[in-house]
Amino acid sequence: MEAETKKTYSEKDQAHVWHALKPYQADASPLVAESGQGAWFTDTGGKRYFDGVSGLWCLNLGHGQSEIIDAATEQMKALAYFPLSFGHKPAIDLAEKLDQLLGGGYRSFFANGGSDANETAFKIARQYHKQSGNPEKTKIISRYRAYHGNSLGALAATAQANRKMKYEVNVPGFIHIPPPYAYRSSFGSDANDDLLAAEYLEQTILWEGAETVAAFIMEPVISGGGVIPPQSTLYYKKVREICDRYNVLLILDEVVSGFGRTGKMFGYMHEESFYPDIITFAKGLTAGYLPLGATCVKESIYEPFKEHDSTSHFRHVSTYGGHPASCAVALKTIEIIEREGIVDHVAKLEEDVLRKLKQLSSHRVVGDVRGVGFLYGIELVSNKESKEPLDDVDVKAIVSACQKKGLIIGKNGDTVPSGGNVLIIAPPLTSTSEELSFLVQTLFDVLAAYE
Ligand code: PLP
Repeated sequence: MEAETKKTYSEKDQAHVWHALKPYQADASPLVAESGQGAWFTDTGGKRYFDGVSGLWCLNLGHGQSEIIDAATEQMKALAYFPLSFGHKPAIDLAEKLDQLLGGGYRSFFANGGSDANETAFKIARQYHKQSGNPEKTKIISRYRAYHGNSLGALAATAQANRKMKYEVNVPGFIHIPPPYAYRSSFGSDANDDLLAAEYLEQTILWEGAETVAAFIMEPVISGGGVIPPQSTLYYKKVREICDRYNVLLILDEVVSGFGRTGKMFGYMHEESFYPDIITFAKGLTAGYLPLGATCVKESIYEPFKEHDSTSHFRHVSTYGGHPASCAVALKTIEIIEREGIVDHVAKLEEDVLRKLKQLSSHRVVGDVRGVGFLYGIELVSNKESKEPLDDVDVKAIVSACQKKGLIIGKNGDTVPSGGNVLIIAPPLTSTSEELSFLVQTLFDVLAAYE
């Protein structure tokens, strides 16, 4: 018993906790966080770090937002739990608020997180087509490199081979196409990459048979797959036109890009003619304070679910989806984002940060620097001509050198073969310009030492 109490948290962690995305390492001494304030947290050894990835791109308002904490406490005191087979006020208020933010005409189904929100979207899309005269429309198209979640359906939409290895058989009915990715264009033309990627979607729909395709799911900016935005909003415009042409529902996965991450309230708002038929949220919806997902659908999609036979309603439930405390937290999060002008803050600082990060491009291993809002990717290569990805060991060494200097950044681990070579930076949206300068300077210092 005495020996047990003498163990450090690191040792206990090593003995008992199974970590996400981490290979086993017998002598690992994992970082164990203890407290946080704003964009910073402190580990059990008392060392402070700037969180340059907002946890898992979710802690958008940083730690210590007492209004959010109070909102959760008050809600739990008033009503600890209630299922959404009935109703409760925070879910109703949140659905109304989301509808307003989306410009009107959307209905929300609440989930536990991003994977769950996407699973919900796929089921809704299929059932919608079945009940509106297109029973064969079942296939879901998604883009290589994109991550849409860990559950088997969302994983099938995820087009990252390394995430799926050894979990096969994959759920059938999901088809993958290349995203626009100018740095490594699949089409041999970085000049027309956006256009050609959109045309590939159309070609795929036609080859599959438009009458069999239910939906196309995409993030406005591929995030976990390596921060891959299109070059222009032309891609968005074309995708919307193609989905309309073939009655394919456009599902926008805004689990990462929603609520200000890209410098707009929602990522799709970068192009006026672009809008979702279904949009999924999680992460930033509650600023990471409590788990919650949302699947918001156009009212026209809800329409056939009003029919009166025994299977026409949505036969889908999760115990905690739309938990009252999570909804209260989401409402408070949105209130803070609006009141504090968080989206404008991101839009104001984003260019300057990207310009500074682009100065890293002259470094021997920096192949491409890209991003939008507070979402940046730095693609590392061992040879700038051939664009050979930098070895995983070296990419990890850069990430851990940043950690030693008190900066947490990410890398796109376990995505596609040889594709884990992108450093990922997504600081809290509340980060000040001084904090962002620390982030940029630390990266410069680490890469300079790596020459
Ligand atoms: N969609 C995207 C774009 C994501 O990045 C993630 C998680 O990182 C998910 C969905 C899944 O969300 P969750 O981990 O909350 O299930």
